Amino acid sequence: MRKDFEVMLVEDSRTQALKFQIMLDSYGYHVTVAQNGLEAMNMLLNSQTSIVITDWIMPEMDGSELCRAIRKHDFGNYVYIILLTAKDSKNDIIEGLEAGADDYLTKPVDDAELIARLTTAERVIRLESSLRQRNKEIALLSITDPLTRVFNRGYLNDNLPKAFKRAVRYRQNLSIIICDLDHFKSVNDDHGHQVGDLVLQAFVKAVDGSLRKDLDWMARYGGEEFLIALPETDLNGGIIAAERFRQQVEKLVIHADGKDIQITASFGVSAIDQEGDKSNLITDDLIKAADRCLYQAKDRGRNKCIGASI
Ligand code: GH3
Ligand code: MG
Ligand code: MG
Ligand code: MG
Repeated sequence: MRKDFEVMLVEDSRTQALKFQIMLDSYGYHVTVAQNGLEAMNMLLNSQTSIVITDWIMPEMDGSELCRAIRKHDFGNYVYIILLTAKDSKNDIIEGLEAGADDYLTKPVDDAELIARLTTAERVIRLESSLRQRNKEIALLSITDPLTRVFNRGYLNDNLPKAFKRAVRYRQNLSIIICDLDHFKSVNDDHGHQVGDLVLQAFVKAVDGSLRKDLDWMARYGGEEFLIALPETDLNGGIIAAERFRQQVEKLVIHADGKDIQITASFGVSAIDQEGDKSNLITDDLIKAADRCLYQAKDRGRNKCIGASI
């Protein structure tokens, strides 16, 4: 049976390499061969290899140098290294392990032993890969609002100031939209909190689905209040986007509680004006401006977009 793992053999002796290759191949391993550490590094950068079996003494870049080079680089997956050393070379073994090797075998190598060590390597790689995956999931969860799946307040607090600083420093446009559902309390009062939650999710889906991917982002600012960041967008562009969201929300029909529920939302837009010196402005100035506009939109009857520059 073919193994999932690609093994790279780093060996300067062609006859030894061929012997290993035939043996590993018979156990189902896909094997590539490099003749020295330098060649191995170049090949590793362009492959999915997760197990390296390397000779110790080689020209150009030897086994311990290769171990160090591999450990310095992030391949996106763990590279498990088995070192092959001459018999009784305790110092080489210590040096190799210190350089980053995971395991070693002394030559001449016993086939069954090498295969057993490879099985260990596979177990470690699988463990590392599931841990890496889990860490990614945790990192994503820590910046995600659990109800609506958009970014949470923590992400907003970290990333809006960064976007703001970038925009001011490089004189790029940046606008934000703060939106708040209209009379949302009565949705909860009329249909219950759970339906209120469904309405929030539907609202976010409608807005988030029409953001420019990879550039704009949306975060939950508070209960039924959201902030959308629109990099490289001036006030006019921000108002056009907000108006598009407003219309999308207005025509949304949410089927819940045995009824068709419709909602509206109000939008406050603010942008950094490109005229004049902006070095004294802070992120909070942009948020406050959008908040003031949102307040005006509510005051003027709700279901409206109002914008201002700072
Ligand atoms: P306005 O048009 O002035 O914004 O009126 P409103 O009723 O939307 O505003 P108000 O601030 O009075 O009420 C907001 C409501 O949003 C009250 C709160 O219980 C509800 N809310 C906040 N977060 C959630 C949530 O996660 N789920 C649900 N179901 N309701 C929430
Ligand atoms: Mg050699
Ligand atoms: Mg509201
Ligand atoms: Mg509110």
